[in-house]
Amino acid sequence: MSVLRIQGLHAAVDGREILRGLDLEVASGEVHAVMGPNGSGKSTLSHVLMGRDDYEVTGGSVTIDGEELLGLPTHERAARGLFLALQYPVEVPGVRMGDFLAAAVRGQGGPTDDLDQRVATEASRLGVARQFLERGLNVEFSGGEQKRAETLQLAVLAPKFAVLDEIDSGLDVDALRDVARRVEAMTTEDELGVLAITHYARLLEELRPDRVHVLMAGRIVASGGPELAAKLEETGYEGLAAELGIDEALVDVSADADPFADPIGF
Ligand code: ADP
Ligand code: MG
Repeated sequence: MSVLRIQGLHAAVDGREILRGLDLEVASGEVHAVMGPNGSGKSTLSHVLMGRDDYEVTGGSVTIDGEELLGLPTHERAARGLFLALQYPVEVPGVRMGDFLAAAVRGQGGPTDDLDQRVATEASRLGVARQFLERGLNVEFSGGEQKRAETLQLAVLAPKFAVLDEIDSGLDVDALRDVARRVEAMTTEDELGVLAITHYARLLEELRPDRVHVLMAGRIVASGGPELAAKLEETGYEGLAAELGIDEALVDVSADADPFADPIGF
């Protein structure tokens, strides 16, 4: 069994501190949901965990089985068993998904002899048509196709821990069910540990979490079982913030707090 441990994590972007002392612990086979309003730092957390370089870590630690990941380049973190499914997957024209997957598996020192077969099996399990494997990575994929492709990468790479950043966004109900079922199966068959970041409780009806955490004002302000997600649906984030006495100025619930939702609005 492995443990992903995040302790006292502080991180800034553009000189502004977004994560302010975040603690979380995920063990193999567990599903933890992180919920939070727009702009609360959910994607920042995912990028900081994976080592994106425009996010500055100002304190804390992130370990897998005691080994520090902060400071390691992204591919070294991947080699130690961490995977990130991006909220906004990047289009890479000219690089076929099949070739990309082969390079990623090889980069981690994994076997590639039966890779074509593994990719084909996973693609059919996830309802990814063969033609997507021939196209440039994510190029002109719909939202649903992108998230199926992210899940295909997860299944083929078989990491110890997966961070899923809004894997439910842009998915119709069928795609959401396919993706959630595949991830769920990995938690039981392969002991995958999951940090499922989401804005809505909808995902958690399909991918049943062991624990639910609420991220606000840069830290985890509440943790509980699945009933916490149900409660949030009722009270909303503002209601919970008021109940917990969190300074409203620190809780940015406006949609334009997401720089990608409105690139010129922030
Ligand atoms: P969430 O995923 O919870 O909606 P984000 O982590 O994307 O929130 O954003 C948290 C805050 O950090 C927002 O105020 C956002 O504008 C800011 N931010 C995130 N990423 C960047 C970036 N690359 N450059 C500038 N500001 C950013
Ligand atoms: Mg986000």
